[in-house]
Amino acid sequence: MTHTPEPFSISKVECPVCGCINEYADIRPMSYRDEGTDTDFMPLGRVWHNAAYQTCDPLWFFMATCVKCFYTRELNAEFKGWSQDATFRAYRQAVIREKHLAASARQNGMVPFLGSHIDAVKYPTESAIIKFVLGIYDELTTDHTSSLNVGRYFLRTAWLFRSQGTPVETRGGGTAALLKRLRATVSCADHALRGYDSTVGDLKTVFETDIASMLKDTTEAPLRDQPEVVLKEIAASIAALHRAHSELTEVCDRVELALPADGSSGSAFHTFASFGQFLLKAKQLWNDVPANEQEALVRACEYYRKSYETGSDIKEGVPQVQAAYLIGELARRTGDFETAERYFDAMLQVGGRLANSGTENASTVNRTRKLLELGRDQARLNKHERAALNREGR
Ligand SMILES: [Zn+2]
Repeated sequence: MTHTPEPFSISKVECPVCGCINEYADIRPMSYRDEGTDTDFMPLGRVWHNAAYQTCDPLWFFMATCVKCFYTRELNAEFKGWSQDATFRAYRQAVIREKHLAASARQNGMVPFLGSHIDAVKYPTESAIIKFVLGIYDELTTDHTSSLNVGRYFLRTAWLFRSQGTPVETRGGGTAALLKRLRATVSCADHALRGYDSTVGDLKTVFETDIASMLKDTTEAPLRDQPEVVLKEIAASIAALHRAHSELTEVCDRVELALPADGSSGSAFHTFASFGQFLLKAKQLWNDVPANEQEALVRACEYYRKSYETGSDIKEGVPQVQAAYLIGELARRTGDFETAERYFDAMLQVGGRLANSGTENASTVNRTRKLLELGRDQARLNKHERAALNREGR
């Protein structure tokens, strides 16, 4: 008979905030293997060596939340060994404790609201998303925030949303179908606005780099100055439209919260009609709560960029090439084609230099070449998508 290994061990970790001793399920190394990855590195499938766990997602066990005060950290060696870390105890623990306790004691606050809805047995994926959001909150409230960690957590939150497949609120008819249409229309308007913004940017470049020099000797002053005046007016209008659009998005969120639930859809989350509705409620308590995959991807991109641009946490070499690629891909997935192009260009340059330097070992060169191949494919896709958007005049 073949031996089927138990993939989990139990890690006992004292909560650095409230002192509660928590027991976390910790995945043993080599308990499963991934089968393929998506273009933003989301594992597409996996095989557990113990088939009894085949439906488990390792991301369910990535974050560790205290059962008592909901303080949340990534379940890694650093967290498991915090009590032996003299620097943490001397300089960081007191601040973390004070800030987290204040947040968890706040009546109707985000931390108790989210934490009290964790139910890993009944709602494993939803509970994992909640834990990531709590972890992001705690990471952002320390004095030593790592933008890279915040980016990693938002990215994994997006993967969890994607793993849910069709968003729960789109199953069933009636209200669900209406909400789906509402969201699609708002997102369509958002794309149209970004497309217009980007095209006007291109127009500005044409005027500044080509036409201005051709007109510099013209005696018709208005003709020389008018484009700049008009483009400034347009830029102000676009900024106003962006503001109005985010107000519109908020209005739609409120409408969604107010609509009656479909009794038949079977996608309820605790007393909420859906997990989406629960997240919108949480968003009213803390605006950084992502309500869907797209919002999580936008945030992931933002924090990876912060980390990349400040050079913190991301090492030179393959990690730098990989981070630039990922930022390009996240920007592409969220419709920010201009940023995507910039980062794909950067990764192709840095990666090209690394692969051809002649000083790197074979494994580094291989990994870099694979990334370059992926980068070229996605950069090409990005150009097509951008061109299609411009053609449609959206
Ligand atoms: Zn605690």
